[in-house]
Amino acid sequence: MSQTTTQRAATRTGAVVEFSGVAKRYGTHLALTEFDLTLRAGELVALLGPSGSGKTTALRVLAGLESCDDGGIRIDGDDVSALPTSRRDMGMVFQSYSLFPHLSAGENVEFGLRMRRVPAPERRERAAAALALVGLDAHYDRFAHQLSGGQQQRVALARALVTQPRVLLLDEPLSALDAKVRVQLRDQIRRIQTDLGITTLFVTHDQDEALAVADRVAVMRDGRIEQVGTPEELYTRPATPFIADFVGLSNRLPGVVRHGFAEVHGVVLPLLDPSHPDGAVQVFVRQEDLTLAPAGPGEAGPADQSGRSLAGTVLISSFLGSLRRTSVRLAQGGTVVVQHDVRDRLQVGDSVMVRFSGAPVPVQAAS
Ligand code: ADP
Ligand code: MG
Repeated sequence: MSQTTTQRAATRTGAVVEFSGVAKRYGTHLALTEFDLTLRAGELVALLGPSGSGKTTALRVLAGLESCDDGGIRIDGDDVSALPTSRRDMGMVFQSYSLFPHLSAGENVEFGLRMRRVPAPERRERAAAALALVGLDAHYDRFAHQLSGGQQQRVALARALVTQPRVLLLDEPLSALDAKVRVQLRDQIRRIQTDLGITTLFVTHDQDEALAVADRVAVMRDGRIEQVGTPEELYTRPATPFIADFVGLSNRLPGVVRHGFAEVHGVVLPLLDPSHPDGAVQVFVRQEDLTLAPAGPGEAGPADQSGRSLAGTVLISSFLGSLRRTSVRLAQGGTVVVQHDVRDRLQVGDSVMVRFSGAPVPVQAAS
C-alpha cells in the first residue's frame, strides 16, 4: 500500500454504529424485532446465529438495502435510516464472490472509485494499494476465472476497502471456502481490520469463526439478540440455555436442581445461576469439562467415592489431530462426549470413569 493511503487509513478512527429498536417485517414474518446493538469505534462485532435468525436482514438494514419498519440506525450520532445505500459510506463483502467477470481484479477494485469519478491515475494507484493490502499486488490483471475462491474474496475485500468506507459489512464472507483457506482469510481480515481501525459487522453462522475473529459476539435468535459479549464471556457465562447449547460443544444431561446445585446421576455440580429454582432440568456440560480415567478394580459402582465421576463404556473414540473425542455410554444410561488429550488412547468397549471438572453449569428447566 502506498505511504499516503496507509497513513490516511491508519489514522482514521472507526465510526460508532447504533441500531435502536429496529424491526423488519416480511409480510407477517418478523425478521427483526426490538433489535438493539452498538458497535464501538473500530470494533469487530460478529453477528452469530442459526440460519434464518435475521443476521443478513440486520446487515442489509444497516447498509440501507432494506428499510426499517420501526426504530432507527445512527452512525456517529447521525440518523442514517432515511439515507440511500450510496450515501451510507459502507464497504460490503458477501458470501458469493460477486466480482464482475469481464473486469480484471484491478478494474473490479477500481469500480467504486470510478463511480465516485476519481481520476484514472489515482484510481489505479489506490486499487493497486488495496490489492497490496490483501497480498494480491501481483494479480492486478487477472480475471475472476484465473483466481481461486480465496483470492476472489480477497479481491472483493480490496474492492470494499478501496473507498475507505466508515463501516465494513461482511456477510458469511468465508462460508464458500475450504477449511484451511477459511482460517487463513479469517486471520487476514482480522489483521487488516485491526490495522485500519474500521468498525466491522461480521455475519456468520459458524461459532468457531465468530469466537476467533470478533472483539464481541452478538448471538441472534428469531430476529432478536439473545446475548452480546466477548467470546470469553459468551463461552464461560452463557446468559441462556440457547447460548450454552449454541456456543461451544456441550453434553445435555438430565438432572435435578436442589438448593442451588445440580445433581446428575448423583454427581453434584455448582450452577452458573445459583438462584435457579429447584426441579427437573437439562444440564449442559462442556466436552472439555469431562475427563476419562480407566476404571480401577475397586470402582465397581456407577459413581465413585469422590462423587465426581460416573462409570461408563467407550462407544467410539476419534483422533482429531490435536485432541481426541470419545463417546461414552454411562452405566446409568445416556451418552456423553469427552474431549481429551490425544495420548489417552482408548478402545471401544473399555470401561472408564468419566470425571466432571466441577465447573459451574448452565441448566434449562426440563419441559
Ligand atoms: P439469516 O441471515 O440469519 O440466515 P435472514 O436475515 O436472511 O436470516 O432471514 C431472516 C428471516 O427472514 C428468514 O425467515 C427468511 O426466510 C426471512 N426473509 C429474509 N429475506 C426475505 C425476503 N426478501 N422476503 C421474505 N422473507 C425474507
Ligand atoms: Mg444470511
